[in-house]
Amino acid sequence: MFSLVGLPDTAVREAKERVRAAISSAGFRFPYRRITVNLAPADIPKMGSAYDLPIALGVLAAAGEIEPAASGVVALGELALDGTIRSVRGGLGAAITGRAEGLPCLLPATSAAEASLVGGADVRGVRSLAHAVAVALGEDPGIRPSPVRAAVVTEHRADLAEVRGQSAARRALEIAAAGGHHLLFHGPPGCGKTLMARCLPGILPTLTDDERLDVARAWSAAGRRLAAGDHPPFRSPHHSATVAALVGGGSGVPVPGEMTLAHHGVLFLDEIGEFPAHLLNTLRQPIEAGEVHIARKGVSVTFPCDVQLVGATNLCPCGHHEDGSGRCKCSPGAIERYRRRLSGPLVDRFDMRVSVARVEADDLLGPGGEASESVTGRVASARQIQRDRGCLNRNLGRGALDCLPWESAAADLLRSALDRLDLTARGWDRVRKVARTIADLGGDEVVGEAHVAEALAFRGRL
Ligand SMILES: [Zn+2]
Repeated sequence: MFSLVGLPDTAVREAKERVRAAISSAGFRFPYRRITVNLAPADIPKMGSAYDLPIALGVLAAAGEIEPAASGVVALGELALDGTIRSVRGGLGAAITGRAEGLPCLLPATSAAEASLVGGADVRGVRSLAHAVAVALGEDPGIRPSPVRAAVVTEHRADLAEVRGQSAARRALEIAAAGGHHLLFHGPPGCGKTLMARCLPGILPTLTDDERLDVARAWSAAGRRLAAGDHPPFRSPHHSATVAALVGGGSGVPVPGEMTLAHHGVLFLDEIGEFPAHLLNTLRQPIEAGEVHIARKGVSVTFPCDVQLVGATNLCPCGHHEDGSGRCKCSPGAIERYRRRLSGPLVDRFDMRVSVARVEADDLLGPGGEASESVTGRVASARQIQRDRGCLNRNLGRGALDCLPWESAAADLLRSALDRLDLTARGWDRVRKVARTIADLGGDEVVGEAHVAEALAFRGRL
């Protein structure tokens, strides 16, 4: 008899077979008597194969095959039938637990490298059940992972030096980077909206140690491997992505989605008009809150998703409606439907809406623009001003905005815009945040009329 209690799922129930085979393969005697494994606390569902190793160690200790470690260990790993240990998700979280409990943390050798990011954790890589036993008993030091400076390789990064012309869009990108603002580019296809968005991670400040650990933890929970690099993550999910792929979920243990993989970085929605409305609506609340909650089958998890949202879109299905080429053959009804999708609640969350025009021939022949490297310096200074004030301008609350110093002319301009542009209260706050960032970029303490005027220009109707 070998029974498992404490809400095991199918993968955990199958641990019985793997544990039995692995114990025999490792050269230990499998105790042939009644075995009950109690996974506590009993009311939390257990999922996945990572319990194999702790179950095997527990069975061996209970049967007297090995001396139980005096203080205990944190262990995580899937067992193969021959006793070797396979990598599992969440090694980084286990290391954080081990550090908190002051216990050594036994992890599959392949998962140990990312766990070494947790400063002060006693992480030991193990290859097989026999090896894990020797490490748990203190007979073997285990494999000490070589510390990695993990972060995310930002896929398809681009440099602003590649962008020709587009001075308005470049300026918008710099402001968005400085204040962390959500930014929407709209314009005809081929005008460089996507290229510009891909330049954003390169002008954002590099991640701090804490942020890097947060990112590594999110990626670890998703079972993604990290590589070297210090730049914020950049994720660009396709409009055909499922809700689970985007916000997290899946069968078994909920897995973080693209939003969480983009934590502390950029979530880029290319061709945002092609995303189904329900998908965009699902994104809205997590983006406001900076975290996403997934609850089902008694499991409730929260994943962080403090992301900067960047979107790109045409203004009609074919994309030529506003480029003056006369090539647009879309019916007024089709254009209307397309626009309606863009006026949904998520698109309302963009702080800045920027029209990008096709590049003129003169610009194409001219020299490339200012490189990302020199823009980064200005962005970093503006961010420092915000840090000193307390928070990123994107996250300024209404109360904080009310307290910031404004020139009276700037306040007048804002008031008249409120009537003229029919701004909502939320839209008004967004203009104020962006104006604050523009002042910060200029090193100005008081927000002036010019700052507000520029911020309003990024608030045009679609
Ligand atoms: Zn069209």
